Order: sequence, then C-alpha cells, then structure tokens
Amino acid sequence: MFLSVFDVFKIGIGPSSSHTMGPMTAAVQFLDMLRTHSETAPAAVKVRLHGSLAFTGKGHATDRAVVLGLLDYRPDNLDVDEAEGRIAELQVTKTLHPAGLPALSFDPDADLVFDFGPPLPGHANGLVFQALDQAGRVVLSEIFYSIGGGFVVTAAERECPPAEFASESASWPYPFHNAAAMLRMARESGASIAAMKRANEVVVRSAAEVEDKLGHIWAVMNGCIERGLSLDGQLPGSLKVKRRAKAIHQQLLRERGANSSQPHVASDWLSVYAMAVNEENAAGGKVVTAPTNGAAGVVPAVLRYYLDHCAGAEPAKVADFLLTAAAIGGLIKHNASISGAEAGCQGEVGSAAAMAAAGLCAVLGGTPDQVENAAEIALEHHLGMTCDPVAGLVQVPCIERNAIGATKAVAAASLALRGDGQHFMPLDNCIQAMRQTGEEMSAKFKETSLGGLAVNLPEC
Ligand code: SF4
Repeated sequence: MFLSVFDVFKIGIGPSSSHTMGPMTAAVQFLDMLRTHSETAPAAVKVRLHGSLAFTGKGHATDRAVVLGLLDYRPDNLDVDEAEGRIAELQVTKTLHPAGLPALSFDPDADLVFDFGPPLPGHANGLVFQALDQAGRVVLSEIFYSIGGGFVVTAAERECPPAEFASESASWPYPFHNAAAMLRMARESGASIAAMKRANEVVVRSAAEVEDKLGHIWAVMNGCIERGLSLDGQLPGSLKVKRRAKAIHQQLLRERGANSSQPHVASDWLSVYAMAVNEENAAGGKVVTAPTNGAAGVVPAVLRYYLDHCAGAEPAKVADFLLTAAAIGGLIKHNASISGAEAGCQGEVGSAAAMAAAGLCAVLGGTPDQVENAAEIALEHHLGMTCDPVAGLVQVPCIERNAIGATKAVAAASLALRGDGQHFMPLDNCIQAMRQTGEEMSAKFKETSLGGLAVNLPEC
C-alpha cells in the first residue's frame, strides 16, 4: 500500500475536503473524460448531488465547488478573485467554455440538483455527472464518490480499487499496510517511521523534491495559522459565528511571562493555533488537508506548538513530523476511513489527532512503538464521535473540535513517551473499532446535519 505524504497533505480551499475539494476535482475529471470521449459532441452538462452532499452541500459550498470545477479550476490553482468573476458571468450566460470542448449549456440553478433521496450505494458522498448532446441524449454519464480528504473515485474504482491500494506492493521498500507490519519493518530495519515513509516517497520523486515539498506544505499550514490569527469579524453563513482566534491570541501574548499564568494556558496556545486554521477553512481560505479540511487545524496546531513551546524543538524535524503523521493517516484511510460522511467525526478529527500525536511523539524522540502507542491513545479517545455540523457549516462544533483534538494529541504523545511503547490495545485494533463504529453509526450523525447538535439549537 502506498499513499504519498502529498496525498494526505494537499493544498486546497475550505470549507471541506469531501464536500468542496472532492466535488471540484470530480467536475474537473468529468471534463477530462469528456475530452477523450469523441463519439458525439456534447452540448450540455447536468449534475446531481446525493447523500451527505445533498444534505449539507449548501453549507459546505458543494454547489460552488462543482461550478468551479466545471470552470476548469482545481483546488490547488484557484484564483479566488478571478473565479468569482467567472461564476458571475456563468450566472448570466449559462454556458461553459471548457478548453478543448464545444460550448456547454449549464445553468447552475437548474442543472445542479440536490437529490434528497437515498444515497448512492458506493458511499454517502455521491455525484452523478451527465453530458447531453443537442437532442438531449446522454452521451456520457459517470458516478463519482468523494471519499474524504479530497480523494475522488469513480463507481468502478470504488468497486475495484487500483492494485496498489488493495494489497502490499513489492515496489516500495517498506510496503506496510497496517501498524503491525509497520512496527515489524521498523524493528527489522532499525529505521524510524519517518525514515521508512521517506524511503517510500523517494521511489516516486527525488529526495530534494520531497524535502522541498514538505517545507512548502508546512509554510502553507503556518501561513494559514498566521492569517487566522490576524483576522476578526464574522464567518460566512447563517450562524453569524464570530472569529475568536485573533482576540484569544492577543490575550495570550499580553499574558506571556506573567507569573500568574496557569499551567493549562499551554493548551490555550494549542487551541488558538487550531482555531485560526479552522476559522480560515470556514471562510473558504487556503488550507492543507490534514487529513481533511474539517480536521485541518489539529496537525498544524501541534506542529506549531512543538516549534514554539517545546524545549529543544528543532525546525529541521518538521519533515519527520509530517512524514510520521502521514504514515498514520495512510493506515487509517487504508483500513477504515477519514470521511465524516462515512465514519463520523472520529474519522476526521480522531484521525487528525492520531496523526498529530504520532508526529509529536516522533520528534520528541519516541521509538516506533511509542509513536504507535501515541496514535492509538489519541484515536481511542475519539471513538464514537459523531459528525453533526450545525446548519451544514464547518463551524460548530468543528472549529473548537480541532482545538480539543490538538490538546488530546499532545496529551497522548506525552503519555506514550512516559511508557516503553508496550500497551494493551494495538493501533490496528483501534482502527478496526473505528471502522465498525462508523459502519453502525446512524446516518443522522454522518455529516447530514439531521441529528445531534445540528437539531438541538438554542432559541435565538
Ligand atoms: S463535525 Fe467533525 S467530521 Fe463533521 S464537519 Fe465538523 S470537523 Fe468534519
């Protein structure tokens, strides 16, 4: 199994990897399919959103994301100002002009349908794209599933995953597909988890490129923290949620060094870094999936906490932190899910906390056994956590939830470092428990906003 660190950490836009980035990518892929489908010239496009994409797609800006994809924007090349102008133009012309294709009729208000019927069979986040000819006959139809973290598969790929994801591959020096194999390979080779992950990465790109790209990922994560700490005002959407990170950060700066400061103030620093990222995500800003947008604050917050607050922190270890975290994220994605629509929030913030705990444990000198223990502790104490975003917006409980996920991650790493790595519940078993819990969780609690906090609102 090989899931690159750059598949886990992808630069994109908020507010959701599964409901924004994935649908945008699906639209781009559909246009690419259409370009190679030469039998009959297409004249129009229609899109249907199913399952969680229908129920919470408005709040997650799924409709806008599909339109952006049909305008040929990708999550990593989006120029927001230019895109807004082209969306406005489309509302008037109701015509797409994709490169290499004839003009396509597409009225965003009529041709993009939120289907509130049963979800499609392959995943809770389904999209159906159709291209029609001048006579209204379907010339190409494709089902996509947005399976979390911005990953998109077609219905055929969902049924029959590509071989490298289905089994261990001999192409990689360390083809670990679960935590037990990862620890065995670490024991046999004497390599750290980061070193094994790095060895796998350099099969597909040079060592220098890997380091450069990891540096860029951290720069974007940290830039997102800084933007979030510098902005105030109201987030978009009906809830009128106010940004809080800037004010809390200013309080913390004022209190710095004061003798009266309480020890738990350290967790406020963690919280404010995470909230800064998730406020930016909620505002549709530039974020890095870690492993998703909804959970994008946990890993950057813990890494910034390491650099700014841990004695002996070394910036040179940022790459090892990210590689270790990505190894754990890959195991969870491969053996369970990182999608809130599939597994609830345990799959998003729980996975992010496990990744961050592993990364922190590694850069603080943890052995592979201690790193695995840290990831397990963090994930175990998110099991059963539901996804119930109020009004379908990635704001309440998501912003604070990242803050608390980050504090759990640090506690888990610290606890693991106090042991010798031997522990009762293996990470693999915990991942299986998460998968089973997600399968048995009611759809009300899987990113549909039909249960939990989303239906227990205060009187305004
Ligand atoms: S509740 Fe958790 S899983 Fe659901 S949208 Fe918010 S962060 Fe994502």
